[in-house]
Amino acid sequence: MTLDALIFDVDGTLAETEEVHRQAFNRAFSEAGLDWHWDGETYGGLLTVSGGKERIRMFSPESDDELIGRLHRRKVQHYTSMTASGALVLRPGIETLIAEARRAGIRLAIATTSSHASVDALLAERLDWFDVVVCTEDAPVKKPDPQAYLVALERLKLAPGTCLAVEDSGNGVRAARSAGLAVVVCRSAYTEGEDFSGALAVYPDFSAVGLGDLKALLG
Ligand SMILES: [Mg+2]
Repeated sequence: MTLDALIFDVDGTLAETEEVHRQAFNRAFSEAGLDWHWDGETYGGLLTVSGGKERIRMFSPESDDELIGRLHRRKVQHYTSMTASGALVLRPGIETLIAEARRAGIRLAIATTSSHASVDALLAERLDWFDVVVCTEDAPVKKPDPQAYLVALERLKLAPGTCLAVEDSGNGVRAARSAGLAVVVCRSAYTEGEDFSGALAVYPDFSAVGLGDLKALLG
């Protein structure tokens, strides 16, 4: 089987961003005069739903759309300035794997439920590595719905059978599988105990995984 493209999730997969997201939410809450504070355990529970606004709604179902929208916009601004300071690095092995894929002429894409502002802040000039970048503005229905992956495939003009998704969460695996994609998992801090059934392989990170290993998995 040929491998034409790798399609990456962002949060938890390309970088361990969730701690920064958590802190950005808390900054937005305290700035708005709310006494809400998400500790690691609370945030871990909220990660079962994809999307920032959805997480606020799950935490506080009585809040109206206006408040949720306002808090989320401020959260994105905090996240953007926190990541733009360069505090986040890509996860081990990711940069090597991407360099190897680029040399081999394999196309690269992103399929995330994050916003373009968050992804731009994280990747900056490394955004050029990717032919296609699908964010929540392009595919508003969150994972485990396959929409982000379906839009990525459509923009790549490729069939799912020659592409491989890279994820860190159970919801991400389900989204990729529903789009007809094979998927591998790079476990992250917040997704350790999740159900990854349907994934071809589960790795702690990509430091020992080469392009040849991924191609072999596709058979
Ligand atoms: Mg993720």
